[in-house]
Amino acid sequence: ESKKLTFTETIDLRNKYVGKSCELFYKKNPLKIVRGQAQYLYDQDGREYLDCINNVAHVGHCHPDVVRAGIEQMQQLNTNSRFLHDNLVVCAEKLVSKMPESLSVCFFVNSGSEANDLALRLARQHTGNTDVITLDHAYHGHLTSLIDISPYKLNLPGAPKKPDHVLVAPVPDVYRGKIRADDHPDEDMGKLYALEVKKIIDENVIGQRGQQVCAFIAESLQSCGGQIILPHNYLRDVYTYVREAGGVCIADEVQVGFGRSGTHYWAFEIDGPDVLPDIVTIGKPMGNGHPVAAVITTEAVARSFEATGIQYFNTYGGNPVSCAIAIAVMTAVDEERLVDNAKDVGEYLLSELENMQRKFPEVIGDVRGVGLFVGVELIKDPKTKTPATAEARDVVDRMKDEFRILVSSDGPDVNVIKLKPPMVFSRVNADRFLKAFKTLISEIRTQRFQLL
Ligand code: PMP
Repeated sequence: ESKKLTFTETIDLRNKYVGKSCELFYKKNPLKIVRGQAQYLYDQDGREYLDCINNVAHVGHCHPDVVRAGIEQMQQLNTNSRFLHDNLVVCAEKLVSKMPESLSVCFFVNSGSEANDLALRLARQHTGNTDVITLDHAYHGHLTSLIDISPYKLNLPGAPKKPDHVLVAPVPDVYRGKIRADDHPDEDMGKLYALEVKKIIDENVIGQRGQQVCAFIAESLQSCGGQIILPHNYLRDVYTYVREAGGVCIADEVQVGFGRSGTHYWAFEIDGPDVLPDIVTIGKPMGNGHPVAAVITTEAVARSFEATGIQYFNTYGGNPVSCAIAIAVMTAVDEERLVDNAKDVGEYLLSELENMQRKFPEVIGDVRGVGLFVGVELIKDPKTKTPATAEARDVVDRMKDEFRILVSSDGPDVNVIKLKPPMVFSRVNADRFLKAFKTLISEIRTQRFQLL
């Protein structure tokens, strides 16, 4: 066993040997977590934290069946996917059984980034086009090809320049986006925002660049960039416009897949069965912390890729251990009815947060969510919607320090408190979060009155 380091030794070694671009959570006062179980994390002194942010630990940290599946397969064999192995085919069959019928071909990879990079290759090969439409503030991964389509990073000072083949559509954020529900009370916001994508296609792709679209890529619920719920009809119309322009539609389910929405296994499904991507990318929750990810696509797209004659080989993708783990995760989601739990606890959390918003409208500007995917937008003034960035940062720190609850903040103005807990999160956990959160929100309001 490796020797245990003190808290300071760990920080010192990290500072000495690890790239400074790899940032820690809670930079001022970081956490050293040594153990996890279900929705709880434990630090080096045995203090317990309620985890509201780790969507990767989907079925709960260190789920015993998932751990056992990994250990047992590691004792048996781990090797690449050029040998026949049951785990790979059983995992593929199980994944496809969760998908709409047209999505039936799997490629196994090791991370969300690898999945999205492969999705772009498939799209290029299938369409012969290069222009990719992405959403503002989106994040799709850390590879060079994905930073190019990730305004979450491209919008930062010092970022590389956005390449010409990448076109950025406005986030369909009906609260503070380009088109706001306040200004369009009786209109179909999804359709209005989808027309923005059509405009980009007509003016930029077909108009100026004189070619057709390669792909539209979006998270089915935008997590990076502020917990955005895509309005009704948005994906339906966008997918239609993109296909009319020769492109394919990629649903990034790396964060929000595997039932987080509480009603469907995949978040692209929540607006109706006719919303059908051509390529779906999955990762994070798939391995409950173990690196495994995949691309699922149609026969037609897979055939175009095959037609190149170039084999796709990925040393670790689809290895027997990763597949055993992914199978165990899906089994746990089903057996423990975690999708239903996400609906039940998510609806409760959302309705309680909405009550809180009615009570503190000067601090809580917007509450939004589906299932266990929730965002609370903190503001300074409901009229101007000025983001309460510093106060959001304070809330995140104080939730940890005073209540031992882990939440994060995100969004273009980093003022959205973000919840995406393990799917075993309970109503009791929700109550613990709500009580602490209410204390802090009410303090913020009191402080503001004192400042007046
Ligand atoms: N897509 C989305 C939506 C993500 O949030 C992330 C990771 N935050 C990725 C892709 C990339 O996944 P990975 O870090 O596993 O490469």
